[in-house]
Amino acid sequence: MIKYQGMSNLKFDIEKRQGLARVGVIHTAHGDIKTPAFVGAATRATVKALTMKEMRELGSQAILANTYHLVLAPGTDLIDAAGGFAEFSSWHGPSFTDSGGFQIFSLPDVKLSEEGASFKSHINGDKFMMTPESSMRSQWQIGADIHMAFDQLAKSDKHEDMLRAMEQTHRWLDRCVAEHKNLADDAEKNGRYPQYLYAVVQGGTFPDLRAASAKYEAALDVDGFGIGGVFVADGMDGMLQNVNSILPENKPRHLLGMGQEPIDLFVGAEYGCDTFDCVGPTRMARNGSLYTLDGRINIKNAKYKNDFTPLMPECDCECCQNYTRAYLHHLFRIDEITAKVLASIHNEHFVVSVVDKIRESLLDGTFADYKEEFLKRYYK
Ligand SMILES: [Zn+2]
Repeated sequence: MIKYQGMSNLKFDIEKRQGLARVGVIHTAHGDIKTPAFVGAATRATVKALTMKEMRELGSQAILANTYHLVLAPGTDLIDAAGGFAEFSSWHGPSFTDSGGFQIFSLPDVKLSEEGASFKSHINGDKFMMTPESSMRSQWQIGADIHMAFDQLAKSDKHEDMLRAMEQTHRWLDRCVAEHKNLADDAEKNGRYPQYLYAVVQGGTFPDLRAASAKYEAALDVDGFGIGGVFVADGMDGMLQNVNSILPENKPRHLLGMGQEPIDLFVGAEYGCDTFDCVGPTRMARNGSLYTLDGRINIKNAKYKNDFTPLMPECDCECCQNYTRAYLHHLFRIDEITAKVLASIHNEHFVVSVVDKIRESLLDGTFADYKEEFLKRYYK
């Protein structure tokens, strides 16, 4: 168990800036995250089809689990009893938890009150209530380094609905900050390692609400920011420019749930986001939809049956270094488990590497060239 190191606020060093983009290092008790960085989706404390050793070897720096899913199974008491997320999952690097707001408010029978949200488990129908306080306690029990505040997600194209959800999110955020502080004080007394809180910026697709949310949250004592809620990739640059021009420069920003399309990683980094997570790359991998520098391909397609070249010759992942497209095609056609494993290794490595290269290109001043060259070839 890692002990408390006297870090009361999350340390984030910015090495270089270019416009709104930054290159930095987030320091957690479980290690550093060099940013910009792609964070692997470990929703249920596992990255589907991959072991934690494979995640480390493919270059992942950090992973993100989901509080909603872990509250349902195996329960946060159990993860706490195991010694926390790192011990339980054997991921000993930096980690995040999302609050579960997004998932809970996507359930069909969720009931909202000022107190919190009541809902039924999608697994067995059991009734649950999540409040800002219970979300904070659950996240401290899980023990990831960085937590997201419990937010209300609204899916609406009406300004009044989004305003109401944003205001609810802000009232809950105040309660999250208070509860997080209590839990952080307890942890310090007990010699437990520090855990940090990100506020989640809401406002949907309305620029005035995004700006209002960023302004409200910028003034709070939080360690960083998640940029969440519903927005479309089209126009994401303007939304991020709006929000990230308001958020304090010295705190890290996480773009929630974006990164399936490589262009979103370039836009996210360019407009000031430091970390990204998305279930898309591994989900697509399990379906045989695989990234190459020339765009995504479906490896199940008959044209790959006799293709004895690597999936992506430029890639240094375990899959591309050792296996051919014909072999992957065969594994997918017979529905072999290994197909999902190799495909997930490649897709996850691909997005992790794209963001690593964005970092390098920002450092050596070639970001604009890298972006143009990559996107031209990928989306031609
Ligand atoms: Zn590969």
